[in-house]
Amino acid sequence: MNLEGLPPVAGLVESSLVHWEGRVAAVVYLQGCNLRCPACPVPHLVPGPEERGGKGFIPVEGVLDAVFTRRHLLDGVVVAGGEPTLHENLPDLLEILRSFGLKTRLQTNGTRPRAIRDLLAAELLDGVLLNLQAPLTALYHVAAGVEVDLGGIYRTVELLLGDAGDHEFRLTIDPRLLVPEDVERLGRTVAGARRLTLAPVAPGLPGRRPLRALARVAGKHVEHCFVAGEPSRDYGRAGPRRPGRPGRRSVGAA
Ligand code: SF4
Repeated sequence: MNLEGLPPVAGLVESSLVHWEGRVAAVVYLQGCNLRCPACPVPHLVPGPEERGGKGFIPVEGVLDAVFTRRHLLDGVVVAGGEPTLHENLPDLLEILRSFGLKTRLQTNGTRPRAIRDLLAAELLDGVLLNLQAPLTALYHVAAGVEVDLGGIYRTVELLLGDAGDHEFRLTIDPRLLVPEDVERLGRTVAGARRLTLAPVAPGLPGRRPLRALARVAGKHVEHCFVAGEPSRDYGRAGPRRPGRPGRRSVGAA
């Protein structure tokens, strides 16, 4: 196995129940991101590998060895960042992980649709989690901290909506930036999606109640819609009815 030139790994979670709904997954974090979201939850992963002077990385052999050793306990591996598609040799890493008999999921900001298209075409991904920071309007540049090619993110959305894989859209809700109309707009952009999750920008911001209200707004457009951390309450149009509360969505689906 040639490990030359594999992407720099800055973090590893050997086993997680929350990074890929319904699966036990390892999570591999790659260094570097092309956005500068002011509310980024992983700012240490944003600078490029060269900015870190090559320091602080986990030897890739050790990462692969840890995943390989646990492969019988895992369903898959999530490759996250930063923005993993910035790394030219991402396909090589995914190929190695798949050779372990594991499913693979990419967590991406969606700014590089061609890279995602190529990974899907090469059958290197079972699923994609597309992290969205705002509706695809001028607000996005504020939420991302840089000018963003909104057309690129839109192409990624279209690509995932038209693909049969296990894909999920995730919208970070910053109540200082977004109003319900923005969430409605984003819901329309991803209309027909199998799964949309709304996540708070920081713990308790916004709280559960406003998030649930927004999930009802966006959920009209997608099959399943959840608030992060509440997998049993489905606000999507295909979600089950809450027992004993006719007409409301909830309980049971994930
Ligand atoms: S896209 Fe994700 S990793 Fe990159 S800056 Fe934004 S929140 Fe952080």
